[in-house]
Amino acid sequence: MAAQIIDGRAIAADLRRELGPRVAALAARGIRPCLAVVLVGDDPASRVYVRNKVRACAATGVDSRDTVLPAQIGEHELLSTIAGLNRDPTVHGVLVQLPLPPHLDAGHVIESISPGKDVDGFHPSNMGALLAGRPGFVPCTPAGIMVMLERSGVALAGKRAVVIGRSNIVGKPMALLLLQRDATVTICHSKTRDLPALTREADILVAAIGRPRAVGAAMVKPGACVIDVGINRLDDGSLAGDVDTAAVKDVAGWITPVPGGVGPMTVAMLIASCVRAAELAAASEASD
Ligand code: NAD
Repeated sequence: MAAQIIDGRAIAADLRRELGPRVAALAARGIRPCLAVVLVGDDPASRVYVRNKVRACAATGVDSRDTVLPAQIGEHELLSTIAGLNRDPTVHGVLVQLPLPPHLDAGHVIESISPGKDVDGFHPSNMGALLAGRPGFVPCTPAGIMVMLERSGVALAGKRAVVIGRSNIVGKPMALLLLQRDATVTICHSKTRDLPALTREADILVAAIGRPRAVGAAMVKPGACVIDVGINRLDDGSLAGDVDTAAVKDVAGWITPVPGGVGPMTVAMLIASCVRAAELAAASEASD
């Protein structure tokens, strides 16, 4: 039987609709959530991501402010731009689009964002909160995947979950979130031996590798839930995920498409984080 397709676009649209009353409640207090996006250089893929984020903000009643800086900008100047956004009370979320040009230290830059405005959840204090199971901003891609799993009725407690990829923005936080929901989690990476033997044990398989169609049908347990995080641009200009969807959909129980799966969820979660940042800022102002 063919897998159930998890429609990320539809779930993301529901999420954005559900944010409506919260945005209206803030508006009643004279607050409009605002996301500041800093883009360094003119990487075409980054420009597309930023454009998608700005559009989705507008559709949800969230303001966005774009700052485009030249690729050669020095670290000091970039950090002082971020410091200005940190200080600005009308800005609730600050996001620096990655990757940065190689002369800039992404770690320094991320650490310079105020943790209360770090809607991407990449600041070490938010990462630490996630590790410790404390409240904080959670990276949007894995947070969105957790919502997809919940809304698709995929059971997690006691299940075997395998995450391929150990990046700070997807693989590691994904594994922590699955662990929080009582899955038994294995993280695989480029040095993992006999990857297919491990992935075939997975009830939930998350592929965040960055290699087109790397996960084939022989790597998937029948009935598993397969989450495809990959966004790979092929030579012909089309997009492919990390999963060979055409083959895997005949084996899996659930599968996310590319495009239209994890990508739209990431953007919806970013907006949700920005609304939450505005709510937290308003609450802390009210208690001052
Ligand atoms: P990354 O390059 O930082 O990490 C890739 C991971 O894959 C590494 O941990 C590496 O060890 C592992 N890996 C590489 N080759 C492997 C192999 N042969 N076997 C097993 N593991 C291997 O990438 P990332 O930032 O985590 O992103 C991964 C993919 O997800 C990319 O395609 C990226 O474009 C995509 N992505 C999508 C979204 C979204 O919203 N849909 C968000 C972030 C990233």
